[in-house]
Amino acid sequence: MSLVMCSLCPNRCVLPEGERGKCRIRINLDNEIYTLTYGRPCAVHVDPIEKKPAYHFIPGSETFSIATAGCCLSCKYCQNWQISQANPEDASHYKLLPEAVIVSALRAKCKSIAYTYTEPTVFFEYMIDTARFARKSGLGNVYVTCGFINKKPLEELAEVLDSANVDLKGFNDDFYARITGGQLKPVLQCIKYLYKKGVIVEVTNLIVPTLNDNMVEIKEMCTWLMNEVSPDVPVHFSRFSPHYKLKHLQPTPISTLHEAWNVARSVGLHYVYIGNVSGRKGQDTVCPACSNVVVGRIGYSVVSFNIKDTQCQFCGNKIYGRWKL
Ligand code: SF4
Ligand code: SF4
Repeated sequence: MSLVMCSLCPNRCVLPEGERGKCRIRINLDNEIYTLTYGRPCAVHVDPIEKKPAYHFIPGSETFSIATAGCCLSCKYCQNWQISQANPEDASHYKLLPEAVIVSALRAKCKSIAYTYTEPTVFFEYMIDTARFARKSGLGNVYVTCGFINKKPLEELAEVLDSANVDLKGFNDDFYARITGGQLKPVLQCIKYLYKKGVIVEVTNLIVPTLNDNMVEIKEMCTWLMNEVSPDVPVHFSRFSPHYKLKHLQPTPISTLHEAWNVARSVGLHYVYIGNVSGRKGQDTVCPACSNVVVGRIGYSVVSFNIKDTQCQFCGNKIYGRWKL
């Protein structure tokens, strides 16, 4: 029996003929790896770009969001587990080839395509074909990812990406192994590489009470971002709500999110946000040089915008991001 290894993500599944990988959507057929969900998204929505969250990429715009079934990880708190942990044949889907995605996005007056909700890495071929069409049509490409991808496909993908939000789920290997089924190191490499390539990178850290809410570790994570990537990388601390296999835990206390925000700012990160909450703290983009609000937000709406080209309108400081296409 011949075996084929899928080298798309660090799981590196070795597949006998007819078998699928951990993500459930990649299969060995006649000694080739195929994706079962090409052109078959199970979720298609027009979303505010702020919902991804992408706060430093064309604020106030709408993004055409697609996902297929499947994921290379198995996070115990996954909000979208009904599709991320589903076999493709068990998830209802649309038929939407890359060209049709672009036509629909342009018709909906979106500025970008977001590959999101589940893990787009596992529908790599569908994502990259769509992204290439998007580029030709003047649309941006937004990769919302767990960052669990091997170097070679990442290099290919980075050529067509404009923005990425990478989940940095925790800052130790044990948390990654126990709660997500993944590993930390490839995620760190993904963040560094995308930033170096000029993709507008933002990082999301979902804080789960008792599992990854240790402030010493959050400080280590922020220090790593400062030293190994840039103080400019925006960080979103996001509120956990009980889902899937972690229904027994409480939602993240607001005070924990505020504490993490303070830690990140004290370490020196310039742009720190709080997500999945209704309060005002951590919503606006503040100029790190003069402390004026350059992008004001209420929920997913932009209520003020004070950036000209790439500079703060109050003091002229450069603000990290892409502010128009
Ligand atoms: S993409 Fe899927 S099949 Fe390929 S290595 Fe990752 S989990 Fe395995
Ligand atoms: S990586 Fe994202 S989509 Fe996949 S299981 Fe984890 S939270 Fe769900």
